[in-house]
This record gives sequence, structure tokens and C-alpha cells, in this order.
Amino acid sequence: MCDKINLNAMGGHIVKILEARFITHDVKRFKVEKPEGYDFIPGQATVISLNLPDWKDEIRPFSFTNLREAKYLEFMIKIYDDHNGVTKMLGKANADDELIIHDVFGAIHYDKPGVFIAAGSGITPLISIFRDLYNQNKLRGNRLIYVNKTMDDVIMGEELFKMLKKDFVNVLTRQNVIGYREKRIDRNYLIEHIIDFSQYFYVCGPDDFVKEITTILLDLGAKPKSLIFEI
Ligand SMILES: Cc1cc2nc3c(=O)[nH]c(=O)nc-3n(C[C@H](O)[C@H](O)[C@H](O)COP(=O)(O)OP(=O)(O)OC[C@H]3O[C@@H](n4cnc5c(N)ncnc54)[C@H](O)[C@@H]3O)c2cc1C
Repeated sequence: MCDKINLNAMGGHIVKILEARFITHDVKRFKVEKPEGYDFIPGQATVISLNLPDWKDEIRPFSFTNLREAKYLEFMIKIYDDHNGVTKMLGKANADDELIIHDVFGAIHYDKPGVFIAAGSGITPLISIFRDLYNQNKLRGNRLIYVNKTMDDVIMGEELFKMLKKDFVNVLTRQNVIGYREKRIDRNYLIEHIIDFSQYFYVCGPDDFVKEITTILLDLGAKPKSLIFEI
């Protein structure tokens, strides 16, 4: 999920950060101005850079998490503080600082009810999809399997639980917390937890995770046309 995209030649919209705050130990939520006429489909992303002389050509992809109708744009961004990249700079950015956002793109979109399987910050495009479906009272019939290392890494856990209730399966791989499953999402897990492999699957997370899960799902009978993912 971390391809660098060289779009220096592309035009962009300069937008002000309206609000910025950490929502987990390493994920920061940004509300930013929405340019006139700017629109996206829930699940899509854009590329962003900081409007600073040395950084404005360093663009990175991030997914929208807000409702399409909102008057602002929202992003939830995992900050990698251990190297001097764009997210480290975003970790220092605050209200009134400026970003440059570009065109929208992305393969993740909602088609039919199914199972969403996400890891870590791979949840972000799904937040926009779930918020949209919840708002339209169409979320029923969808299930989320969300995998993180520990409870502290879960992004928007309360809201996801409020929206999905028993259909939110919170999987923690490195922490034993009562009420949560400590397990790896592997072939056995999917066989144990999914009865119908002919339904739709949406997979989102780090490249290795997406490759591994989609390969297993196809092997277990999922149809390529019912498998929606982005690498
Ligand atoms: C379509 C799409 C949508 C995305 N949406 C989101 C989103 O909504 N929220 C989100 O948080 N992320 C999202 N990502 C991922 C995000 O784009 C990357 O995390 C971001 O580009 C990292 O930028 P960076 O400059 O900080 O790191 P880069 O310098 O570009 O490094 C890339 C990756 O290297 C790894 N790395 C870790 N430590 C080091 C180190 N010491 N040196 C070098 N590399 C290291 C990290 O895994 C990092 O992601 C999305 C990616 C794609 C493709």
C-alpha cells in the first residue's frame, strides 16, 4: 500500500488543515478544506504533499475517511517517525498549515455485501465506505475482520463497533485481551470463520497482507470478480 507515485507534473489544490490530532499513538486525523467541486467515491484516495519548499513534490497516497457530503476532507494517517518521510512531516503539521491534494483514484469501492478484511491503516478506505453505508442504513449483511498487533493500534474502534456491532471482528495478533481474538489471519482462520466463499470480499492493508489473503481466498473458492482489493 505504499507505492511512491511521481506526479510532479500534476496540478494540485492547496488546502488548509482545519484540525489535526492524534487518534492513536501513531495515527493522526486531519480535517482539511475541501476544494469547490472536489468529489470522490467512498474507498478512493488522493495523493498529498506538504506545501513547503522542500516537500511539495514529495507526494504520497492517502484515503479519504469522511462522508462524501461533508464540507471538509478527512484523512487518518499513520505517522512513521523513524525516518524522514512525508508522514513524519505530517506528524508535525497542525491547523493552518497547508497541504497540496491532487486527483482522486483507487480500486476499492463498495459493490455488494460481503466480508471486509483489513489490517492496520488499511482500514482507512473502509471507514469511508462503512460511514456511507451506515448513513444510508445499508450496512447490514457486511462483516469486518480487522487485524492489528495490539488494542492500541486499532483505528476508530468505537465507531466501527457502533456501526457494525457483532459484525465487527477485532483480531489482535500480539495481545491477549479478554473478549478479543488473538490469532493470525491465515488459511485455517478463514476456513473456520467464513462459510460462504462465493460472497464478496474486500481486502485492504500492507502489500504482503493483501497478497497473502487474496491468494488464500481464491484458493478457497472466492471468485476473482467478487474480490475487491488494492495493492
Ligand atoms: C491507495 C493508497 C491509500 C493509502 N491510504 C492511506 C491512509 O489513508 N492512511 C495511511 O496511514 N496510509 C495510507 N497509505 C500508505 C501511505 O501512503 C504510506 O504510509 C506513506 O506513503 C508513507 O510515506 P512516508 O514518506 O512517511 O514513508 P516513505 O518514505 O514513503 O516509506 C515507505 C514505507 O517504508 C516503511 N519504513 C518504515 N521505516 C522505514 C525507514 N526507517 N526507512 C525507510 N522506510 C521505512 C514504512 O512502511 C513506509 O510506509 C495508502 C497507500 C495507498 C497506495
